[in-house]
Amino acid sequence: MTQPFLEIGQISKEFGVFKALEDISFTIDKNEFVCLLGPSGCGKTTLLRIIAGLETPSKGFIRLEGNDLTSLPPSKRDFGIVFQSYALFPNLTAYQNIEYGLKNRNLKKKERQERVYEVLEMVDLSHIQKKYPSQLSGGQQQRVALARAIALSPKFLLLDEPLSALDAKVRDKLRYEIRAIQEKLGIATIMVTHDQEEALTMADKVVVMNNAKIMQIGSPQEIYNQPHHPFVADFIGSINMWKAEKRTAGINKIIGIRPEHVQLSHDEGVKTRLENIEFRGASYRLQLCVEDVSSPLNKQILKVDVSAATIHEYSLRKDGTVSIQFPEPHLLTYE
Ligand code: ATP
Repeated sequence: MTQPFLEIGQISKEFGVFKALEDISFTIDKNEFVCLLGPSGCGKTTLLRIIAGLETPSKGFIRLEGNDLTSLPPSKRDFGIVFQSYALFPNLTAYQNIEYGLKNRNLKKKERQERVYEVLEMVDLSHIQKKYPSQLSGGQQQRVALARAIALSPKFLLLDEPLSALDAKVRDKLRYEIRAIQEKLGIATIMVTHDQEEALTMADKVVVMNNAKIMQIGSPQEIYNQPHHPFVADFIGSINMWKAEKRTAGINKIIGIRPEHVQLSHDEGVKTRLENIEFRGASYRLQLCVEDVSSPLNKQILKVDVSAATIHEYSLRKDGTVSIQFPEPHLLTYE
């Protein structure tokens, strides 16, 4: 078996009696981009801080290329880090902010200059090198922070919600840029986010967390299409879920289906009334109330996503009726 590049092993963390992390294990390959995804308070920042050495775990280990880092201080762990708040020195220019870390590395002025120019070019900011953080936009400040983090050629990169303070347009652009730089450098990266779309669009591997535990680890496609747990199904994307009781067998199952997988039907299916139509740009979201006493879903509200063409085809309008079907391959079932 080949040795993992970075290994997080059985990490637990208690603050007094409170369990912030319970038995967290996963690995990261040399070129991999991993997202820690979960709701506020699930423990993802604490985990990132433990990997950085800013917090000590109660149990478990962190290994880099087989070497135990668990008791090393942050400065001996060889990583770059980017925070949500940029954390640039306000009294230093973009150039000086990036150069700062290089000064402790015994590099000659000329070598430092070459490296600063190199990373400034990588983040496309050569033209603003003389500006101070207060003279830069949020997106530019975050690119300076990224340039500073990679300037020392670290072995891995930690990103703590780096995009959440930025507006939507800048965020989309930076998602792509960060990923492109990460791929170019081939650097193992762990990013914390509570934004499922961010995790799905950026990660090679997503670690979904809730209540201090890992709920699922997988590719974006795996966690979206085959969520192992109702929490994951509900947290990633949108889903309709209901309880299906089989009284004879005494089994309670939870059934789920994504809004885009529910099909409208002209004749067969479960009868519903259209309570609302919401325009979402590329699609429409319908709110359908099941009005079918023979169905276990009677009175349930379901979300269904359709195209403009479907709206026309079915002449859909508020308070009208339409039948729906649930294609078997798209049903998610949990015991
Ligand atoms: P957010 O997205 O809101 O930052 P998170 O998933 O990153 O959430 P953490 O910041 O890791 O969550 O916190 C996990 C839990 O541990 C929270 O309930 C938090 O209150 C608690 N916690 C974190 N640090 C400490 C501390 N130093 N002392 C006590 N409790 C803490």
